Amino acid sequence: MSETHPAVRALQELVRHPTVADRDPARTDPAPFVALRASLAEHFPLLHGLERVEVEPHALLVRWPGRSAEGPVVLMAHLDVVPAEGRWTHPPFGAEVHEGAVWGRGTLDDKGAVVGICAAVESLLTEGFVPARDVWLSFGSTEEVSGTTAADAVAELRRRGVRPWFVLDEGGAVAAEAFPLVAAPLAVVGVTEKGVTSVELVAEGAGGHASTPAPGGPTARLARAITALEAAPLPLRAPAPTLELLRRLGPHLPAPLRPVLARADRLAPVLTRVLRAAGAEAAAMVRTTVAVTTLSGSPALNVVASTARAGVNLRVMVGDTVEEVLAHVRRTVGPGIRLEVVERNEPSPVSPWDDAAFALLERITGELFPDAVPTPYVMMAATDARFFTGLCDRVYRFTPFRMTKAQRATIHAADEHIGVADLLAGVDWYRRLVQELPA
Ligand SMILES: [Zn+2]
Repeated sequence: MSETHPAVRALQELVRHPTVADRDPARTDPAPFVALRASLAEHFPLLHGLERVEVEPHALLVRWPGRSAEGPVVLMAHLDVVPAEGRWTHPPFGAEVHEGAVWGRGTLDDKGAVVGICAAVESLLTEGFVPARDVWLSFGSTEEVSGTTAADAVAELRRRGVRPWFVLDEGGAVAAEAFPLVAAPLAVVGVTEKGVTSVELVAEGAGGHASTPAPGGPTARLARAITALEAAPLPLRAPAPTLELLRRLGPHLPAPLRPVLARADRLAPVLTRVLRAAGAEAAAMVRTTVAVTTLSGSPALNVVASTARAGVNLRVMVGDTVEEVLAHVRRTVGPGIRLEVVERNEPSPVSPWDDAAFALLERITGELFPDAVPTPYVMMAATDARFFTGLCDRVYRFTPFRMTKAQRATIHAADEHIGVADLLAGVDWYRRLVQELPA
């Protein structure tokens, strides 16, 4: 490669700071965050000169004044990353360029978006461009550990009376091989996300010596509860964004299948059954999922457990409520098992896809990724965007990067990498978005 693009150099430098946050803020090493913030200031000096609000511990809120302060937009990303476990082909914090891609933790999630946004803003500032409306940048530092920075940024915006037109955070992408039989990439824009709720199932008993076990002890009851949960999945649901996705896919399917998706509304029951059968990823699109994750019993081989516990992670589908899902779990595990609710989050409100804000995202995506099919969808994972749903009716989750299926599988896993051309196309997308904000 000849001269390295400044956005690529910036990404390389950001990736080299291992900004891994801990759930316990006292255990987070601040040094990489401080260094990363210094790198941002150095690579994006004009942006750094805008009005900045520090959000503890290392997050950043920036206001770029437009011609009007009414109906601003908020562009979000996060500065923290998950740890780099697993076997990597190239060092996870090395940010080496190989085969036209930058390799390292955070290249896709989410430092690529940080650089995409900052490089777009910096280049427009260099040209003296003034956006039609205020543009706020909100970069959290605790996204991966469900920390407080996004909620604190929302509180600050609320305090200032800022009422955004729309908020854009990470989420969907220009996803290749996203749907069986569809050759075109899907530009999936999350318009809602499932609610993450966790409970512990607790079975208790007398315990005692393992040489004289009584039947029906805590471990046996817990095992029965777990198998009962697996045998009683929650009802299938086809929320409106999923039906819209199916409708938009219709024209891109082989001819015999097109009419089916054109009638996705009426055929929802059939389609949800098809999705349920199409693998774990598709099945998660049509119902609340239940995953038993942690398990514990007696600490010793020759001791009967007096308490046995199973952690259950629930992803609550739009259309279900936490209360309904908990009632289902209680009914299914039956008496003799206690439920301790660890965290409860409802699914996020559904943002509209039939008005000017979504149309803008759709149009710019069509201009920069003409082969892609833009569509709303329900996000399976949780993002900081959920904190903004109380502040704004339009919260969209989309990162303008092309990602192969293999690349998507590297997020939170080994060998995360972003194509250099894809990073630069993302910068162009953010630039165009800001340029085309209407008055
Ligand atoms: Zn992320």
